[in-house]
Amino acid sequence: MAKQDCKLYIAGKQQNAVDGQTFETRNPATGELLAQVQQAGQADVARAVEAAQAGFATWSAMTCAERGRILRRAADLLRARNDELARLETLDTGRPIQETSVEDINSGADCLEYFGALAAGLSGEHIDLGPQAFAYTRREPLGICAGIGAWNYPTQIACWKAAPALACGNAMIFKPAELTPLTAMKVAEILSEAGLPDGVFNVVHGFAETGQLLTRHPDIAKVSLTGEVGTGRKIMADAAGTVKHVTLELGGKSPILVFKEAEIDRAVTGAMLGNFYSGGEICSNGTRVFVHESIKDSFLERLVARTEALKIGDPLDPDTQVGALISEEHTQKVLKAIADGQKEGAKLVTGGQRVTDPPFDRGGFVTPAIFDACEDDMTLVREEIFGPVLSLLSFKDEEEAIARANDTPYGLAAGVFTRDLARAHRVIARLQAGTCWINNYNLTPIEMPFGGVKQSGLGRENGKAAIEYYSQLKSVYVELGELESPY
Ligand code: NAD
Repeated sequence: MAKQDCKLYIAGKQQNAVDGQTFETRNPATGELLAQVQQAGQADVARAVEAAQAGFATWSAMTCAERGRILRRAADLLRARNDELARLETLDTGRPIQETSVEDINSGADCLEYFGALAAGLSGEHIDLGPQAFAYTRREPLGICAGIGAWNYPTQIACWKAAPALACGNAMIFKPAELTPLTAMKVAEILSEAGLPDGVFNVVHGFAETGQLLTRHPDIAKVSLTGEVGTGRKIMADAAGTVKHVTLELGGKSPILVFKEAEIDRAVTGAMLGNFYSGGEICSNGTRVFVHESIKDSFLERLVARTEALKIGDPLDPDTQVGALISEEHTQKVLKAIADGQKEGAKLVTGGQRVTDPPFDRGGFVTPAIFDACEDDMTLVREEIFGPVLSLLSFKDEEEAIARANDTPYGLAAGVFTRDLARAHRVIARLQAGTCWINNYNLTPIEMPFGGVKQSGLGRENGKAAIEYYSQLKSVYVELGELESPY
C-alpha cells in the first residue's frame, strides 16, 4: 500500500492539524509505513467542538426517523465496501483478513443498521397524574459526545460508539487509538456520503494528550472509552471536572468454566475462540480456563493438538488464523508475561515463542501459548495480557469454581460449558460478569448489551440498553387545573 496522508475529519472535511504535527502508523506485520497521521492539538479540538456544535444543532432538530434513515444508508455503504475496508483494517491491526473480512466491517454495519432502526422508535412516556395534571418525559440527546477507541477492533469500536450516539441525536468527536487511525476516517467519509450533516461525526487523531483535551473539555457532555482499566480511571477523574457522563469499556481476566458433563470438543473450541482469536487481543477473552478435574487431561490433550494446528502467518493470506500483534512494544509485553509465568512456576505446554524466520522477523508473531499447572495467585492468572496466552486451572466442585472465577477485580465476561441446563443458569446467575455465554464464547450480536461490572467498566454498549447511555430524560409536569397558592 502506498504511503498516504491520514488527516483529521472536521466539519465533513479532511483537514490538516493547525500546527502541522504528524505521527506515523505502521503495518504491525511488516513494519511498513502506512500513513503519516495529522496529530490534533488544542486548536484542532477547538475546531472539532465548534463543528460538532453546529452539527448538533442541525442533527438534533431532525426527526428520529430521518436520522435513522441516514444511519441505515451508512450501514449499506459500509457493507458494500467490506473487502476494501477489511484489507485496510488488516494492514493497520495485523489481524488476519480471515477475521476482518467477516467480523469487523459487518459488526460496524450491524450496529449502524440496528440503531438506525431503533432511532425511529425513540420516545418519552406519558404519565397520568389524575384529571388535573399529567407529565411527560422527553428523551433528549446529551450534546457532544467524545468517543475514544482502543486499537484491536477500530472500525467496530468507531461504529459501536457512533451509532447509538447519533441515533439519539448527539454529535460525536471520535479519537481512534494512535496505533490504528485509518478506518475511523472511512467510517466518517461513509457517514457523510450517507447524508450525515457536516460536523455531526468528527475524527481527531493523537495520543493520550489529545484524548485529554476531549475528556476535560467543558463543552463535551459525555465520554465513552474503550481501553485499559488504568486509562478508564484517569478518564473518569478528568471527566469529573465537568461532571460528564462516562461509559467505560475496559479490560478483564474473564473465566471460562468447563463442567464435567460438558461436550469437551465444544468447550475446547470455546476456549480457543476465547484466547486465540485476534491473537488474543480481545477484552472479553476467557483467559482463565477452569476445567473440572475429571476431564482436564482429555481437555488439555485436545486443546493442545488443535492449537498447534493453527496457522500463523501473513495476515493478508486468507488461510492465516493467527496474525501479528499490534506493535513491538506490545509483543515485548506479551513475551515478558509468558517468561514471567514460567518463572512463577506455571508450565508452558505449547507455544509462547516468537516466530523469527523471515519475513516474520519484521512483526510481532507469537505462537499461541497454553499454560498448565497454574495457580490462582500467579500474576499470569491475575493480570490481563491481551495476547494469545491461555491459563488452564482445574476444580473439584461448582461452589469452588464460582468462588475462584469471581476472585478478581475485573468482571467483563464469563463463559460456562455444560449440558446441564439448571447448572448453566444457576452458575451464570452467580458469576460477577457483565456479559456471559453458555456453550459458546465471545459472540457479541448487536442486539445484546455488552459491558463489564467491577473494574471492567461502566455502562453498556449495544442493544436497547445503549440508548440509556447516550440520552437523558427531561420530565415535564403539565397543570390542567387551578394553581392554588399557600401564600
Ligand atoms: P489504552 O487504554 O492504552 O488506550 C485506549 C485509548 O485511550 C487510546 O485511544 C488512547 O490514546 C487513549 N488514552 C490513553 N490515555 C488517555 C488519557 N489519559 N486520556 C484520554 N485518552 C487516553 O488501551 P489500548 O492499549 O488501546 O487497548 C487495549 C485495552 O483496551 C485492553 O485493556 C483491553 O482489554 C481494552 N479493551 C476493552 C474493550 C471493551 O469493550 N471492554 C474492547 C477492546 C479493548
